[in-house]
Amino acid sequence: MIRIQNYIGGRFCDAVDGSTLHLIDPATAEIVGTFPDSAQKEVEAAIGSAEDACAHWSASGPEYRSAWLYKLANAIEASLEAFAQAESSDSGKPLSVARTVDIPRAVANFRFFAGAILHDQSEAYVDRPSVLNYTLRQPLGVVGCISPWNLPLYLFSWKVAPALASGNCVVGKPSEVTPLTAFLLAKACADIGFPAGVLNIVHGTGPKAGAAIVAHPKVKAISFTGGTATGKIIAQVASESLKKVSLELGGKNPTIIFEDADLEAAATETIKAAFSNQGQICLCGSRILIQASVYDQIKSKLIDKARALTVGDPQDSSTDLGAIVSKAHFDKVLHHMEIAEKEGGQILTGGKKVSVSGRCKNGYFLAPTLIEGLPPTCSTNQDEIFGPVATLIPFETEKEAIEMANGTRYGLSASVWTKDLNRAHRVSSALSSGIVWVNCWMHRDLRTPFGGVKESGVGREGGLYALRFFTEAKNVCIKTS
Ligand code: NDP
Repeated sequence: MIRIQNYIGGRFCDAVDGSTLHLIDPATAEIVGTFPDSAQKEVEAAIGSAEDACAHWSASGPEYRSAWLYKLANAIEASLEAFAQAESSDSGKPLSVARTVDIPRAVANFRFFAGAILHDQSEAYVDRPSVLNYTLRQPLGVVGCISPWNLPLYLFSWKVAPALASGNCVVGKPSEVTPLTAFLLAKACADIGFPAGVLNIVHGTGPKAGAAIVAHPKVKAISFTGGTATGKIIAQVASESLKKVSLELGGKNPTIIFEDADLEAAATETIKAAFSNQGQICLCGSRILIQASVYDQIKSKLIDKARALTVGDPQDSSTDLGAIVSKAHFDKVLHHMEIAEKEGGQILTGGKKVSVSGRCKNGYFLAPTLIEGLPPTCSTNQDEIFGPVATLIPFETEKEAIEMANGTRYGLSASVWTKDLNRAHRVSSALSSGIVWVNCWMHRDLRTPFGGVKESGVGREGGLYALRFFTEAKNVCIKTS
């Protein structure tokens, strides 16, 4: 049994009253450990430690902070296999994905911001030779980083790294569903002697531990990734103390395939976009809009490719789709499939749970599911399902495709498939989303702005955007005589 502990002021500790929650492996449905059910007291202690550490960490130069972030990246990389095993067993994702995507990306996040802070610049404005304005970018102090379960260490480090690089001290809370790699991160910090109190990790539930971080007046900013409903609560609570918020929320992302696209490449990537990480990525393309003239061709390619995917034990190297993250989420996705049928959708493939034999016989597995025949406005095409479920929707004209693509309350990402460069520019500009990929999906350059519009979020992460979020701009105006 794994015993996860909080990491506060450089020390490992349990909840003050000793209460714990269970850690469950979704591939086997077995309890594999416990973690603290933290609340106000633990959060207070973490904020106190962060405050104490701030004076030194904030005042230290970028070279000092950068060196520590590089050390941390190296420590994660040195234990990549242990991190990957933990991420896979905690979330149900294929071990191969944790090894090649999640953990390498967490390493890259720390390295990227370790480098970025060394090259950060600020502006200066000269107004007549005698008046100089320049902008100081100063750390905020103690900040909160709250992350979800789908890409646990990947998204946690995406927040923690820029927060630390720009001189803040962090109180972080990973999802209660997947706390294990954040605990390993804390162990890596302890192993390398990372300055105590600079990074504090409190485990527990959102409504208790998470809410205590958001409400605390000493926490100057909240960087949050999670569901839209939670994001709205956080925005409301944070407004009480007027703290900065960055909200990366849900999506209902369109993949738009025009008749002039490379249809084979489009179908291959569309399947990845729909089903990677069991469809549990905020960027997954869950609405596949297909120009009517190529609808049947694309449909049969998609069905063949979806059926060729292997659902199975996350530990097995041939597995494409592992387990759904939890029983509750598994039930929710199954419920959405029932709603789709009630709304008149025809299930082309999937639509049911998958039994995996051996150690995974009780795990939460679902077949990759494609559905057609649903109007764009029905709930299946409007609500985020966040599982291996995608719908096929035909369109006639570019205008109609854009209207459908924009016709939800979300606006995170979109994928456009066309060989017509003019159309690529035109459609990209017309889409209401924070990110547009043309002839690709989920290519990530860490320097680019990342985030959504409408109910997909507020603010941008990535590169300079994250460094700006975690600092306060102060203008200094000097007039010489
Ligand atoms: P949730 O919103 O349920 O939870 C996200 C985090 O917030 C968890 O750590 C959770 O804690 C915590 N939390 C919950 N309630 C509160 C609260 N009242 N105050 C403070 N913290 C709270 O999302 P999920 O974990 O279910 O993640 C899935 C969602 O995340 C999907 O909607 C997905 O689209 C979105 N997402 C968005 C991304 C983006 O970049 N835009 C990327 C990845 C996911 P706990 O889980 O412990 O209860």
